[in-house]
Formats: sequence, C-alpha cells, structure tokens
Amino acid sequence: MIKVDLVVLGGGINGTAIAREAAERGLSVVLLETHDLASATSSASSKLIHGGLRYLAQGHLHLVRESLQERERLLRHAPHLVKPLSFVMPTNQYDVKDWQVGVGLWLYDHLANRGTLHKSVRVARKDKLLQPLLPTVTSARRYQDCWGDDARLVISNALAAQARGATIYNYVSDYQIKRQDTHWQITIAAPNTLQIQAKLVVNATGPWAIQALEQVTGNTSPYRLSWVKGSHLVVPRFYEQDVAYTLPQSDGRIVFVIPYLERYCMIGTTDIHYHADPRQAHLDRQEQDYLLTAVSRYFQQAPHASQILWHFSGVRALVADKQDNPSKTSREYQLVLDTQAAPILSVFGGKLTTHRSLAEKAVNQCKSFFPQLQASISACTPLPGGDIQDWLHFEAQCIEQYPFIPRPTLQRYMHTYGTRIQHLLHCKYRLEDLGAIVTADLYQHEVDFLRKTEWAKTDEDILWRRTKLGLSCLMSPSLPF
Ligand SMILES: Cc1cc2nc3c(=O)[nH]c(=O)nc-3n(C[C@H](O)[C@H](O)[C@H](O)COP(=O)(O)OP(=O)(O)OC[C@H]3O[C@@H](n4cnc5c(N)ncnc54)[C@H](O)[C@@H]3O)c2cc1C
Repeated sequence: MIKVDLVVLGGGINGTAIAREAAERGLSVVLLETHDLASATSSASSKLIHGGLRYLAQGHLHLVRESLQERERLLRHAPHLVKPLSFVMPTNQYDVKDWQVGVGLWLYDHLANRGTLHKSVRVARKDKLLQPLLPTVTSARRYQDCWGDDARLVISNALAAQARGATIYNYVSDYQIKRQDTHWQITIAAPNTLQIQAKLVVNATGPWAIQALEQVTGNTSPYRLSWVKGSHLVVPRFYEQDVAYTLPQSDGRIVFVIPYLERYCMIGTTDIHYHADPRQAHLDRQEQDYLLTAVSRYFQQAPHASQILWHFSGVRALVADKQDNPSKTSREYQLVLDTQAAPILSVFGGKLTTHRSLAEKAVNQCKSFFPQLQASISACTPLPGGDIQDWLHFEAQCIEQYPFIPRPTLQRYMHTYGTRIQHLLHCKYRLEDLGAIVTADLYQHEVDFLRKTEWAKTDEDILWRRTKLGLSCLMSPSLPF
C-alpha cells in the first residue's frame, strides 16, 4: 500500500500538467492513465500555441489574454517544442473585411502585451506570401503565433512531474477507486496489483470527465460536457512559403493550413457535435469536403481528395452551454471541487495552450487540504530539455559534439529532446553505438531510451506520440512497422 496526497486520473496535457504542478509544490503524486499518455485529444489538436483569434471575435478576452501569456512562457521554457510561426490571413470582400482583421489583430497584439513575437503587419497584394492565393484575395495581414508538439508537451510535463517524485503509470486499464471516509482507496489489478491511498483525486480525463466523475462518486453529475469533433487532413506541401494560412470562412469559422514536418501541410479543423466513443472519432466525408472546399476558396492550386495522405480526429470536451453552433461554444475551462468527505477536483474543458495556468489554478484550489503546499514555480521553470538560452548556440554545440549523427536525425533529436539529447546520446561516440535502424531514422537505441525513460510500450507510442515518425512509415510502406 502506498499513501499519497494526490492521485491524478488522465495522462493528457491537463493531467500531466497538474501532476507536475502538484509534485513541484511538494505533494506526493501518482498519475493513472488507462491508455498511453497523450493518446486522446492531446495528440489530435491543431498543435497551435495561440491566443485564438476566433475566441477574440467571440469576446473571450480573458481566455485570449491568459493564452497569450502562456504562449510567451512556453516559448521560453520549451523552445525545442514550441516555435514561432508566421500566419497570413487573407481577406476578400465576401467573408471578412480587411479593416475587421486589422482591428482584431491590433487587439491581439495589445493583449500579448510586449511579447517576443512580431506585431501584425499588412501584406501588399504583390507580396510573395500571397502568390499561391487566388486573385479574389484583395489584401492580407501577417501575424505571429506558435506551433507546438502537443504529444511531446504531455511527455515533458510527465517527465517534470517524475523528476519531482511523482509516479506515472500508463496502460492501467483495470483499477477500482472508492471513497473511504476522508480518503480514497485505489486498487490497481493489472498490469501489476497495487493499493494506493490518496487524500484527493484529480479527474483530468478530458472527454471522459463526466463518466469518470459519476463512476468514482457513484452519483449523477450536475455538470455536462459537449463533445465537439475536430478533424485534420494531411497533404503534401502545396506551396513553398514558410508560413501558415488562416482562412476565414463564410460560416464565420477559420480553417488553418499549417506547414507540418517539412514536407506536408495540415488542414483543419472542423467543429461537429459528437455523441459516439471519442476514441473512435474519425474524419467523415462531410468534414473532408468542408476542409478541401475551405482551402480551394483561397488557393490557386488547392489539394484534392486523392492527395490526402493521412487524417486524424479528436474530441474537444467543452463545458456545455445552450449554443447550437459548436464553433461558438466557449473554450473556457472550469475546475469543480467536490469536497464531500474525500475530495475530488474535476477539470472540464481546457486548451493545450493554457495547460500550465490551468494546473496552477487547479492545485491552488486544493490548498486547504494541503497546508504544506509550496508556492508555484512552473511559470518560471523550464520543462525538461527546455533549458536553452539561445537556440543557435545550442544547435552549434550539438553539431560539434555529435558530428557522427546524420544532420536531419540530429535536428530531429534537438527538437524532440532539447537538452535531454545529452541523456539520449550519453556515451555514444559513433553511429554504430546507436544500434540497428528500426525504421525511418529510428535507431534501436532511441527505442530503448523511449521505453526506459518515457513510458513507451508499443510501436504506436513511439512512432505517433514520442516521435512523429509514424507519417514517414506510412509514406514508405517498405519500412518496417
Ligand atoms: C481538433 C482539435 C484541435 C485543437 N487544437 C488546439 C490548438 O491548436 N491549441 C490548443 O491550445 N488547444 C487545442 N485543442 C484543445 C486541446 O487539444 C485539448 O483541450 C486538450 O488536449 C485536452 O487535454 P486533456 O488532458 O483535458 O484531455 P485528453 O488529452 O483527452 O486526456 C484525457 C486522458 O484521460 C484518459 N482517461 C480517460 N478515462 C480515464 C480514466 N477513467 N482513468 C484514467 N485515465 C483516463 C484518456 O485515455 C486520455 O489520455 C484542440 C482540440 C481538438 C479536438
């Protein structure tokens, strides 16, 4: 039997961020995830670390401001995983007027409050950035936001939690949890039997938050979540400009075209009310047509259906309101503490971008149960691998230290592990020290490293979440896996 302060249910971005925050503040923590870390919504996002222009248009200024602050922190504390990305937002006389975009971006710049990213600028029609677009585009604005590796942000938070003493278990599919007076009793049956006693449970199970709450407490929850499916298409890169495009649509939505892994573009997303199993969410024909049409309304050489290489879908768990239009349902999160006997804190909603601030508030809410709780340090502490002052210097150092690693592989290691590259390549002096190639540029040594240090158990964990090599394997069927 182990006794801990906190058991966190759910190993998505919010669960791992809460585990990190609690462990950093001196609490003993166990995190239980029924599948793999980041296996649900947290690896199916648009991967934008952003304030959210459309939330601005909907008047959610508080959420936008909080997100922009977190964007700045992530740029500083996880520069290997979060990168500035320029966006071009074209305007035409039908969907959105130039002055509307100008006002919106002016406000966006001001809410960012002297951040490190460039302020928005007007783009002339003859600018190279607008060359791939149709002549109906009359003007455009350029602004900056960030791209982030969603699944690796989850792993990084889990690593940070573990570094402060938290224990992380994934693939714990068989466990029982019971309230016993003032504490919780958790019995894990498989893969290994284990008894845990916890003072407080955090329910960070994303789309399953109501289901988990009802199962754990045995009561019907007064809260409701709306499930909204969002899908993305991945196609070969169809323009050479090094920017993403933000495409306003006549239904008031925005569709993004985002450069992805050098050779590809991600197109997304949709907003569809969803009622089936979130794990089975997949792109349907209507979404495919919607996304392709959205792009063809702006691009001269828009991709067609036969060029879709891959697609993925995820389910947003939004706090239910009376909105019929899923795009307009608020993206604000809610933290609900049930203090009857043994307490349980539930997380409803939340964005990838705001995971740290959500976690800080979540742990603050538990203060009265833990007098020993220390002050939060996450706002000024790098994530594991993120202690990089100057990227160019870091890059030069890696090239000098590991000349035997092929440059594209070294680049991938730098962006995946940041300064943890030193752990990955500890005592490696020749390429042969990395073992045989398993697939793409994945060497046996990296597989072993991920199994040993990042809770990877299956090929999928390694190819689609710990690394982004799954797409390379899909594109080259001759590769193993
Ligand atoms: C299409 C789409 C695009 C998005 N784009 C962006 C974006 O660009 N930027 C942004 O900031 N946000 C974005 N988001 C939102 C963001 O992805 C989510 O808010 C975030 O990933 C939610 O994380 P989570 O930890 O709450 O949930 P999840 O990632 O779903 O994690 C919940 C975890 O709980 C586990 N679980 C379930 N039941 C149990 C149980 N009983 N016990 C233990 N574990 C359990 C699940 O297996 C899962 O791993 C997007 C979302 C979608 C769907």
